[in-house]
Amino acid sequence: MSTIFTKIINGEIPATIVYRDELVTAFKDINPAAPVHILIVPNKEIATVNDLAEEDERMAGRMLLAAGKLAAQEGIAESGYRLIINCNHDGGQEVYHLHMHLLGGRRLGRMVAR
Ligand code: AMP
Repeated sequence: MSTIFTKIINGEIPATIVYRDELVTAFKDINPAAPVHILIVPNKEIATVNDLAEEDERMAGRMLLAAGKLAAQEGIAESGYRLIINCNHDGGQEVYHLHMHLLGGRRLGRMVAR
């Protein structure tokens, strides 16, 4: 069964797609935690960071490059932003299709609640 993010990438369920290439797709988070909240997702289903393989190196790099392009596109490159990848239970991962959050557009709080 495909993940909800694969369904978005395949156009089976709607989302606001803001970037797409042969390796990654980015779309707006449905429940934004900041004025800019975009998810950058590999086109290939990879559950977590733990499941990355050597062959995914190009794609993993592309996720970062896409984040930089999107930050510029959204006008937050200079003001700043945060990139987050949650992994498994303690990381707070909810969707088991690897994704990087791009958050910005306001001053973000502490990186981790203490
Ligand atoms: P994580 O907790 O890191 O797994 O983050 C999952 C993110 O996916 C959350 O921020 C959700 O709001 C977001 N999300 C879940 N379903 C959708 C959807 N259909 N379209 C866009 N974002 C979604």
